[in-house]
Amino acid sequence: MLTGMQIAVLGGDARQLEIIRKLTELDAKISLIGFEQLDHAFTGAVKEKIDEVEFNAVDAIILPVPGTNLEGEIETIFSNEKIKLTEEALKETPSHCKIYSGITNKYLSEITSSAERELIQLFERDDVAIYNSIPTVEGTIMMAIQHTDFTIHGSNLIVLGLGRVGMSVARTFHHLGARVKVGARKSEHLARITEMGLIPFHMDDLEQEVSNSDMLINTIPAQVVTAGVIAKMPAHTLIIDLASKPGGTDFRYAEKRGVKALLAPGLPGIVAPKSAGQILANVLSQLLLNDLTSRKE
Ligand code: NAP
Repeated sequence: MLTGMQIAVLGGDARQLEIIRKLTELDAKISLIGFEQLDHAFTGAVKEKIDEVEFNAVDAIILPVPGTNLEGEIETIFSNEKIKLTEEALKETPSHCKIYSGITNKYLSEITSSAERELIQLFERDDVAIYNSIPTVEGTIMMAIQHTDFTIHGSNLIVLGLGRVGMSVARTFHHLGARVKVGARKSEHLARITEMGLIPFHMDDLEQEVSNSDMLINTIPAQVVTAGVIAKMPAHTLIIDLASKPGGTDFRYAEKRGVKALLAPGLPGIVAPKSAGQILANVLSQLLLNDLTSRKE
């Protein structure tokens, strides 16, 4: 149980509600900042304004998946209030206070480091990334269906990258009956692609491999779907780029050539906010329990 732990939850979207539900069930005391338009009440959670929070009593701060923007502002869909996380606020917290976020940026990394508080990026964890790949794939299937006039079954699909998302995408589309080729650069990835019953190719050969593609799903966060690659694709190919912004596709050239290319960020939060929230809630509650136990020892 998290009895006696004081946690500040700052902003967010529907995913945060699953986190709040789980942490209140575990008996934590929660300050909700940026939730005044939320109708639902959670026992043990109190809505507060950012300037009312007693940071000197806060054991953990939970930020939404994107963390802050480059000015320190935190997005919330439950309030019009502007919430900003500052270095001064962090310095007021006890030294054991940890900051939990999905990802970070220059601002957030700098203020946590200057305030000497530990920042934990949940999306860097393999377990979170792998669980999160499940709703990501479901969202990708939804987009593939919405934006094509042919079935996934029997289509020629190229997946780029065999990381945590790429592997789930390749496997699921294979099970849906697509002919899946996967591009990677490491020999162990090429071996794994073969073992999965899929067709491997080296990324160096991408231009030659796209000539009969119906769909290309990119998971590589680097400019790999270049103008040269797009020029070799059939014009009906659909590109779904899952890599984090700005994606790995030359969108300008795709538009010029009339190839439909879609950047599709944040699919878990769009197609399955409840499940995506539960993934975060389960990992977070375990980390907070470990933290509380180690402080008691
Ligand atoms: P990951 O496990 O790190 O996989 C990335 C893959 O890209 C690895 O296989 C890596 O291969 C490869 N790669 C990186 N740079 C490369 C390059 N220059 N050339 C060739 N291959 C390269 O990451 P992930 O968890 O699968 O996530 C992939 C991307 O999807 C990230 O940008 C992530 O933020 C994003 N994402 C998007 C959504 C969404 O909703 N759209 C959801 C989850 C994640 P090596 O091992 O050879 O480096």
